[in-house]
Amino acid sequence: MLQQLDRESETAGDGGTAPRHFDVAVIGTGFAGLGMAIRMKQEGMDDFVVFERAAEVGGTWRDNTYPGCQCDVPSHLYSFSFAPNPNWSRAFSRQPEIWDYLKDCARRFGITPHIRFNHAVNMASWDETEHHWRIETAGGDFTARVLVAGMGGLSEPSIPPLAGLDRFKGTHFHSATWNHDHDLRGKRVAVIGTGASSIQFVPRIQRQVGELKLYQRTPPWIMPHRDKRLESWKHSLYQRFPAAQRLVRNAIYWGREGFIPFFTNPRLAGVPRAIALKHLESQVSDPELRAKLTPSYQVGCKRILISNDYYPALAKPNVEVVTDGVKEIREHSIVSTDGTEREIDTIIFGTGFHVTDSPFAQRIRGRNGLLLSELYAGSPQAYRGTTVAGFPNAFMLLGPNTGLGHTSVVVMIEAQVRYVLDALRFMRRQAVATVDIREEAQVAFNAGVQEDLKTTVWNAGGCASWYLDQNGKNTTLWPTYTWKYRRLMRRFDPAQYEAQPSSRTAAAVNARVAHA
Ligand code: NAP
Repeated sequence: MLQQLDRESETAGDGGTAPRHFDVAVIGTGFAGLGMAIRMKQEGMDDFVVFERAAEVGGTWRDNTYPGCQCDVPSHLYSFSFAPNPNWSRAFSRQPEIWDYLKDCARRFGITPHIRFNHAVNMASWDETEHHWRIETAGGDFTARVLVAGMGGLSEPSIPPLAGLDRFKGTHFHSATWNHDHDLRGKRVAVIGTGASSIQFVPRIQRQVGELKLYQRTPPWIMPHRDKRLESWKHSLYQRFPAAQRLVRNAIYWGREGFIPFFTNPRLAGVPRAIALKHLESQVSDPELRAKLTPSYQVGCKRILISNDYYPALAKPNVEVVTDGVKEIREHSIVSTDGTEREIDTIIFGTGFHVTDSPFAQRIRGRNGLLLSELYAGSPQAYRGTTVAGFPNAFMLLGPNTGLGHTSVVVMIEAQVRYVLDALRFMRRQAVATVDIREEAQVAFNAGVQEDLKTTVWNAGGCASWYLDQNGKNTTLWPTYTWKYRRLMRRFDPAQYEAQPSSRTAAAVNARVAHA
């Protein structure tokens, strides 16, 4: 760390003209960016920087502070395998505890000094002559041999362009940028969207607001929640015997892998459907409301949600579930497509994120000056969700088709981090300046993924979801068991890449290795 600070002050003395150079630049400090940084540090790879647009680490778990924000994957699995937390207070952690965990990881593993806070990346461009990335950030310019993008798919909130929203005189905000200064008590509140975020905050705000109008375009399937407090004897057990916690983590992991047939085999669709319908029937007695809340597509087509307090909240007298779409927003009201006008003080958007149209793709230029978004043309794709032809030495964490509908994405992140580390080792060992995935390898890989997705509930379940991009292609989800992905990502596979040696880079690398 001291070496790194010394070097920065040296470069600061050059009048600020030469961008600071690092071997690896990581973007983001959520699970992906931090996971990458921690594992590099553990491997003794110290020459890296981490860019963070905010003033704190945490990614989505820093940004999403809405009431009731909680992870729907069990805590023991929704955490790094190399950094177990024996003290999780609940089976399913709430946002503040996960955020604390990430802050603690950044500190504990010595990542904080590597992080440049308030350094949003505005543009990253491949320099073909110098064989490195030029990175323009809000805090200055940098260069790096390798770029690791760890922003994830759920970092850019999406607010639909509803007619008249700009005329609205009340307060409006997105669930991911919750306005905690705005007092909801007694207000007439409209919530738009009924996805994973909405079903968590609706039961919380229902108790405070005067009236709640819930604009539901499509009802979600909801399962019972198995959350519970974790007793202190368990904390002591896991502290004294970490193997016991590993055992629990493994049991959760394999239990969740067991869900895959329900997503991939249509003959099993009746099982989750029966559980979800029973849950709805047991919590909502009004047949009219129940009908509104009963989805018409297969369970799993959209993310399966879990909640014990969402349905009861909707049955309260101050709540109206509006199933007509939003036609227009006026200064103090919302008009729905049936012409009904409802007076509104506050609009809360639970309308999700830019996933397949992530703005980052417009901020990264590969060979020949091509933007990633131009290459994608609305359908993101990468080799193993990690590398893209024409973008040498760039690795994406949670890239295309690495999202999950059944278990923890941290599992996928760790598999990718392992692959990237192996790539870095390969590049050092072989004195390779650049690795660029062969286009034919990328195309063949994606053809296989799309083939596997064809019959899954995510593609054929009869719904529109954010899993599908603007071309109707599923470019977000991994189609099968995560153990298959983990196996695939155990080793970097250089044969699939164009590798370019550079005598200059080789000499520099050798010198650095010799120095180390
Ligand atoms: P989401 O699941 O994408 O839900 C967005 C909601 O907004 C949907 O109900 C959607 O309706 C509705 N919507 C979008 N545009 C609309 C429009 N123009 N008019 C009316 N309604 C509109 O978003 P999210 O709830 O923020 O969750 C996003 C993802 O974040 C989740 O799927 C999950 O992966 C993650 N998440 C995870 C947790 C967790 O517990 N781990 C918690 C929160 C979020 P349609 O269904 O009709 O499109």
